[in-house]
This record gives sequence, C-alpha cells and structure tokens, in this order.
Amino acid sequence: MRHIAIIGSGPAGYYSAEAAQKKYGDDVTIDIIDRLPVPFGLIRTGVAPDHQSIKAVSRRYEKTALGDNVHFVGNVCVGDDVSVAELQSLYDAVILATGAPNDRPLEIKGSELPGVVGSAAFVGWYNGHPDYKDLDLPLDGKSVAIIGNGNVALDVARILAKTADEFSGSDIVAHALDELTHSGVKKITLLGRRGPHQIAMTPKELGELGQLERAQPVVDIQDFPDENDDALLEPGKRKSVTHLRDFHARAGELEHKPVKINFDFFAMPVAIEGSDKVEKMIVEKTELDAQMRSIGTGERYELDCSMVISCIGYRTPPIEGVPYEHSRGRFTNVEGRILPGLYCVGWARRGPSGTIGTNKPDGFAIIEAVAEDIGAGTGKEGRQGLDRLLESRGVEAVSFRDWKKIEEAEVANAREGAPREKFTDVADMIAASGD
Ligand code: NAP
Repeated sequence: MRHIAIIGSGPAGYYSAEAAQKKYGDDVTIDIIDRLPVPFGLIRTGVAPDHQSIKAVSRRYEKTALGDNVHFVGNVCVGDDVSVAELQSLYDAVILATGAPNDRPLEIKGSELPGVVGSAAFVGWYNGHPDYKDLDLPLDGKSVAIIGNGNVALDVARILAKTADEFSGSDIVAHALDELTHSGVKKITLLGRRGPHQIAMTPKELGELGQLERAQPVVDIQDFPDENDDALLEPGKRKSVTHLRDFHARAGELEHKPVKINFDFFAMPVAIEGSDKVEKMIVEKTELDAQMRSIGTGERYELDCSMVISCIGYRTPPIEGVPYEHSRGRFTNVEGRILPGLYCVGWARRGPSGTIGTNKPDGFAIIEAVAEDIGAGTGKEGRQGLDRLLESRGVEAVSFRDWKKIEEAEVANAREGAPREKFTDVADMIAASGD
C-alpha cells in the first residue's frame, strides 16, 4: 500500500489525486489536506463569480473526492498544525499543491498607502475568502487604476463595472455585491507596461468587456501597430487584438455608457501619491526594445485615482524547511521533485501561468514521478499517524462529508437566482459542518 498526502485542494491537488486513483486503483490512499474547511481552492476563491461555467469543473473533482481511497482533510494548516517533515515521516509521497495565493509585491513608492490592494486580496474579497472578507475598499471614489494586462486585470475591471442585474446567476458574495453595485466608480484604467500586441488577455474574456450594460472599453488607436502586423500574432492573441480594435470601431455606438474602461498602453506606474490615502499615480510612458521589453521614455503623466489594484501576478508562500526560489516565487524543483519524498505541482511548481486545464497534465506527470520513486510503497503509516498527531494537538479536521453539509447550507442560503451564498467566516463553516 502507498500513502500519498496532497497539500491543497485546488485544481492541481485534485488532478493529482485523480491521476493517483487511476494509476493505483485500490493500492493507494490519498489524503488531500487544506487549511480551509472547504475544498477546491482557486475554483472557489479565484475564478470570477460570474464565470460559473468554469467553476463547474469542481464536479469532476467531486467525483475524485468521493472515491473510497480519497479523503479530504480540511481545516488543517500545514506549517502550523502539522509540519511538512512530520507528513514526510508518515507518507510515501507529500505533494505540495498550494497554488500561488500571495500577490507579487508592487515595488513602487507609495504602494503601502491605504487604497492600494493586490488582486489576491481584491479577488478574495469578492469571492468570499475568509482572509479578505473584511477588506476596507474605497469604492466610493470615482476612479480606479488597475495595473497589469492579464486575465486577472480583466476579471477585476469587469467585476467593478457590472450592474446588479449582470451578477444574476453568479455566486458573488452578498457584501461585495452590495458594495460594488453602490460604488461611485466611473473610470477604470487598465495600465499595460507594453502594447496591445503584448497583452496576456484571452479573447473570450476580453470580448466580454464589449458587452457590458453600463461600461465602454476605450482604446487609443495611436497605440496600435499597423493592422497588417496582427497577422504575425498567434491566433488567440490575434483574436484578442481584434477585440481591442473592435472597441475602437464601436466607440460611437458605446459612447453613451457612463462607466469608461480605459486601456492605457505603454504605461508604467512609477509612484503612487496621496497624503493619507491614494490620490494619484505617476505613470511613465514606455517603448519596446528589440527584445520586446518595456523601457521608460522619461515622459510622465499623472492619473487621478482613489484606488489602485495591482494585478501583476502571484507567488507561492514559502513553507519552513522547503527549498524556495525567491526570484520566481515558487518551490525549488526539478520537474516537480523538491527533495526525496517531497514534490510540488501546479502553480507551486511552475508559477502562476496557464489555464485550470494546464494543471491536469501536471497532476498526471507528478504521479508518474512519484510512481518511479516509491515503487510499491516505503512502509509508512499514512492517515492513522496523521489522525494521532492532529488529535494530540486538538485539531479537528473537516471531512468531505462535512463539506457537503456546509455546501448544503450555502445552497439553502442563496439569494434568488444564485447557486449559493458562501460562508466567509471559518467559524460559520465549521458550525454548518456539524449540522
Ligand atoms: P499574467 O497573465 O502573468 O499577467 C500579468 C500582467 O502583469 C502582465 O500584463 C504583465 O506585463 C504585468 N506586470 C507584471 N509585473 C508588472 C510590473 N511590475 N508592473 C507593471 N505590470 C506588470 O497574470 P494574471 O493576470 O495574474 O493571470 C495568472 C494566470 O491565471 C494566467 O495564466 C491567466 O491566464 C490565468 N487566468 C485565467 C482566467 C480565465 O481564463 N478566465 C482568469 C484569470 C486568470 P508583462 O507582460 O509586460 O510582463
């Protein structure tokens, strides 16, 4: 018998569990440990609440979770309740699938001012992550600056711009729905340090901006290269750029919409200023060098803003005793192998890139590496040993069956048309798991 512990119950964790199930059948036990009492990680607290079709992938993870040899061990924080070294002494393989939940720091002057937040915090807030439910956001201001030209920046802009009706059918949490739909935001500026051909936004997501009820995406066509150059782009990127050009072509038709989403390309934030909260951003115009990197031109402008949301990527939090590559914000690894018996997968392995589906081949590959290393098992004790440790420390784990009770209560609490109203407080989740 082999015993595998997976830390983190998001996509990378569940695809790894599915791979182990398929590889070993009954000859394995798989414990999926998560610090929250609720599973699915990024699917629950990262994917935008108005993208329910993407969230539906959790049904696949549930199928895996309900297998006889797979156990969710929620409400257990690795690093606090149990150490990685202890898990290594109990399991043949320990796989870190902890994602990249921390913001990459915005290292410019003024980034500590109230009103400057990272996307992990902002996305966590509207998705009901317990860590961010009490975030105090200056949504009464008129103008928000969003740094970055990736899909997260797009999610954030769209969520800021939507009306209450446009959230129907979503599982945005009540506190965020209330604050967003009463916000004073009229101008949203997306700052890209490079140009339209260098965006990291996918076409489907970018196209949604052109369909919003009260918001108009605005581009300056002067920022674009010759249209013939679009043919050199890979097809997905070309479609995205076509959407941007279309926003320009439809400017007259969309002009009446009161909220503006401005794309400021070749725009590098250099400082944020304000007396006791953010008031404006100093932005330097850029150009591209031969390697397509942005370089400052020395020309600067001021952008008035009452809130700044930086969407410039994420980092995996380090765990004591686990080798960590600070420059890349992920665990030091060679194709997922960190140390004997210790592995990483998903964003914790490769950094925050790709779609949810990218984690599937990752999960299957890591189980192949585990299989090569552990053979028929190394005689470790597995779950019994973990239970003993947790009991001695007074830690009460939440099982998948407990989670189903939490889910049932969330579904019962849903406002009309919504799939669920998430608990945002760990104590409430635990209380519901015992009903
Ligand atoms: P991302 O795609 O890596 O985009 C990060 C953006 O931040 C880039 O435009 C980058 O510009 C910019 N940036 C980085 N450092 C900067 C700095 N110091 N100053 C100014 N700009 C800076 O990351 P993401 O948007 O966080 O998304 C993470 C992953 O999740 C991606 O793979 C994304 O596709 C995926 N995702 C998918 C969806 C979806 O499919 N619906 C939704 C959300 C996220 P440069 O290009 O110049 O570096």
